[in-house]
Amino acid sequence: MFLQTIDILNAETTRPLILAVDITGAPHGWISWQSAVGHQAAGRVDRSMGEFFFTFRGGHSRLTGLRSELTVSSILALRGRNPHGWEPQAPALCNALLFQRDHYLCCYCGARKPAHALTRDHVRPLSRGGRDSWKNVVTACRACNQRKGAAPLESTGMAMLYVPYVPSIYEGLILRNRRILADQMEFLKNLLPDHSRLVTQEA
Ligand SMILES: [Zn+2]
Repeated sequence: MFLQTIDILNAETTRPLILAVDITGAPHGWISWQSAVGHQAAGRVDRSMGEFFFTFRGGHSRLTGLRSELTVSSILALRGRNPHGWEPQAPALCNALLFQRDHYLCCYCGARKPAHALTRDHVRPLSRGGRDSWKNVVTACRACNQRKGAAPLESTGMAMLYVPYVPSIYEGLILRNRRILADQMEFLKNLLPDHSRLVTQEA
């Protein structure tokens, strides 16, 4: 168990995102520490499932002179079911998630590059009826993207080093939180399908 006290009056302190799950343990999404503290104070937390605990300390009470504080866990099971249901939904396609899905590796030459040097390549080009969807896009460096152009892949002599796939909603949650905590990562990784490349990714 890991305990940290966070002074909310100190603007410099980084505050973690809290993973909210429903009463069955199905992830709902990331919530801010303010929401987490609100749920905790309102008695809507069924149980704490994280290994990290944060005590948020606020201002001094004028009546008692004591500082207000509330402790929340990094993973909170909230009472009630998610009103939107738990249908597995693919996260929206965007380059940031795409490059992370593909580990910043160009699908054609295998070079690992920073995000600014990478592009979204449509395996079947848009001009040839390809779709802008997770299963038709891969990460490509600029050189490879240009070389491939709008030609069908077969005619370019280029080969794909990996296969595109639709990230699960849980994968989307992992990819979206850049400051994900170890226990949150473990929790979400356990829900990923085997084909996810994040399963084998080193943290
Ligand atoms: Zn390349």
